Amino acid sequence: MPRNVVVHFNRKQEESVISIGTSLAAAARDIRRRFPLSKVFIITDSHVAPLYARRFAGYLRIPDSHVIIIPAGEKSKSRRMKEHVEDRLLKLQADRHSCIIALGGGMIGDLAGFVASTLFRGVTLMQVPTTLLSQVDSSIGGKVAVDHPLGKNLLGTFYQPNRVYIDVTTLKTLPHRQFRSGLAEVIKYGVILDKRLFSFIEENERKILKRDPAFLTNTIVRCVKLKKEIVEQDEREGGLRRILNFGHTIGHAVELLSGYRILHGEAVALGMLTEAKISIPVCGLHPIDVWRLWILLRKFELPTALPPGITLRKIEQAVFYDKKSVGGIPRYTLLEEIGKARIGVPVRFDEVSKSIR
Ligand code: NAD
Ligand code: MG
Repeated sequence: MPRNVVVHFNRKQEESVISIGTSLAAAARDIRRRFPLSKVFIITDSHVAPLYARRFAGYLRIPDSHVIIIPAGEKSKSRRMKEHVEDRLLKLQADRHSCIIALGGGMIGDLAGFVASTLFRGVTLMQVPTTLLSQVDSSIGGKVAVDHPLGKNLLGTFYQPNRVYIDVTTLKTLPHRQFRSGLAEVIKYGVILDKRLFSFIEENERKILKRDPAFLTNTIVRCVKLKKEIVEQDEREGGLRRILNFGHTIGHAVELLSGYRILHGEAVALGMLTEAKISIPVCGLHPIDVWRLWILLRKFELPTALPPGITLRKIEQAVFYDKKSVGGIPRYTLLEEIGKARIGVPVRFDEVSKSIR
């Protein structure tokens, strides 16, 4: 049985229902039941299309349904591609009552979500995330965006999906590196908010790596509930939501400096370890906790050392331009202990470089 988590936003006036452990067939049936007469557009990428999109369209059995396929990869999360998808939608005579289904990872979710938010000033959006990262993170909370050459996610808005359908069995086909990268965000939830989740991951490494559906469902339900708690209190990232940025200040710098050759989750793993080390002198984190994090990241073969070519000097510059800087001093989310974080801590770079060394 799928487990539902309801996220309330806009001061409880609206809600998103997140269904975890459902199947694609059941998701399609549910959408048909809700939108029997609408035009439905499945937006997906070139990797996901042959695996799931045709099948999903088949399950939908809505006569007026269309599949729009764009090239896989972060490069597609662009203004140009947004325009292309919009042109296709209008040519296919989308109308105000149309429903957009984002079927794919975070790239598709962010792009299709952004398209849905501006098409006729907003049409119904359904998220069907198919990567671990999108199932625990990007499909929840309503952030949608495209990238700009000057930076990631620079053009976007907040737009909540009507429903999110999470079929954990789609993770079976996810490349190992993508799966591991998504695990970094799962570990992050444990580190910042839930020491029991952290221990659970420590104890069940094998079952998680085997992608056992029951284990994945339990783990994803926990992560979704944690994210729900945060985004309900702070939909627009005024404060608390920044807790989710743990590992991301250094992580974003590393991701950018690698020219995006390092995956987001991999960069976040390294960022978490570094920011945990900074937390020892700054927030009194016990060194044993850093050691536990290190062991866990190693178990999942996530990076724990800076890749060659990425120097401290370069990180310093990249961090300086971080969105969260105030007066040139970056603000970090740091740890007091596993399961307990502190937001908005200013840290000067000499403190950071001591920790990295
Ligand atoms: P992605 O969407 O690019 O997917 C990664 C790769 O996996 C792609 O090649 C994709 O085609 C492939 N894939 C997807 N599902 C598959 C499956 N089931 N089987 C086989 N292959 C599959 O990347 P991602 O890691 O899912 O998401 C990254 C994006 O999410 C970034 O653009 C990032 O900015 C965004 N993001 C957004 C939020 C948010 O709150 N909106 C949060 C975190 C990240
Ligand atoms: Mg992230």
